[in-house]
Amino acid sequence: MKIAHNFNAGPCVLPREAVDAAIESLKDFKGTGMSVIEMSHRSKEWEAVMDECRNLWKELLNIPEGYHVLFLGGGASMQFLYVAMNLLENKAGYLETGVWAKKALKEAKALGSAVAVASSADKNYSYIPKGYEIPTDLDYFHITTNNTIYGTEIHTDMDSPVNLVADMSSDIMSRPVDVSKYALIYGGAQKNVGPAGVTFVIVREDILGKVSRYIPTMLDYRTHIENDSMFNTPPVFSIMVMNETLKWVKRSGGLEKIYQINKDKAQLLYNEIDRNKMFKGTAATEDRSLMNICFVMADEYKEKEAEFMTFAKERGMVGIKGHRSVGGFRASTYNACPVESIKALVDCMQEFEKLNS
Ligand SMILES: *Cc1c(COP(=O)(O)O)cnc(C)c1O
Repeated sequence: MKIAHNFNAGPCVLPREAVDAAIESLKDFKGTGMSVIEMSHRSKEWEAVMDECRNLWKELLNIPEGYHVLFLGGGASMQFLYVAMNLLENKAGYLETGVWAKKALKEAKALGSAVAVASSADKNYSYIPKGYEIPTDLDYFHITTNNTIYGTEIHTDMDSPVNLVADMSSDIMSRPVDVSKYALIYGGAQKNVGPAGVTFVIVREDILGKVSRYIPTMLDYRTHIENDSMFNTPPVFSIMVMNETLKWVKRSGGLEKIYQINKDKAQLLYNEIDRNKMFKGTAATEDRSLMNICFVMADEYKEKEAEFMTFAKERGMVGIKGHRSVGGFRASTYNACPVESIKALVDCMQEFEKLNS
């Protein structure tokens, strides 16, 4: 079977073992004689999957008491609204580090007072703002830990004087996280933990119930806490694949191990970007993402961009075109992207350099 060097930004590469296990569950789920997508979500077999998946989240991220793990629909984009709906009373602050952060801020502005506390828009979001102060009168401060489009990442869990809310869509489960520093973490599964269709939310219960607005039933986190994410039919297929993906993370040695592998993988490609005279990185060095590696042709080789794209495609690279707002190239190197794929891309860059010198 042909396996592509898959650098797609999301949906993206998943562990082969998880995809294979999913195929089996689609045929016959654990000897029930039914496909996993044909079973009642109220059956004990399905509830066991939900429990296993929730427990894997808690175990892998070492989630403390007082937090709930929810599996919802609507994507991270729907969470932009949920967050403001459930937490915004007087004022919210956002760290504006890219398109996703801006979209999150927009939803909050529609519901109340919300401001960008700091922004890196002045340099097309190529860095993470530093040296700003988080105002203490905010209901919450919202960050995007990994900026999928621009290839920047907040590498540490910051201290915040107010409730810290994080969109971790594209770097969840890529490193250990001190969950206790966050009031709420959310993201779409399709970047690092599963297929599209399920959204994860990790929420500290004591932050809820503090706003005066009416919250529609489906948009109220408390509805989903009370019903173990089964107030309505959950996206069963996506949750099942997410469960298999997390089982793979655990088998791979957990997040400390995965983090080390991710650092090594990213280093391999960044080293080549820095060494190869034909290419250059676009993100500030200290803020470079381990998950989305963005680069462009060096100034003298600008006209070679399309040529390199074709060259790389012919050698099996998939999904390396940069987002239209940045241009150039983006290699997404999520957990399931094997080091062999990164080596293949590096070889490609070296070959291209030889051909052009
Ligand atoms: C992809 C992405 C989103 C949007 O996710 P959807 O699930 O498609 O709504 C939001 N934030 C970040 C950081 C992303 O990478």
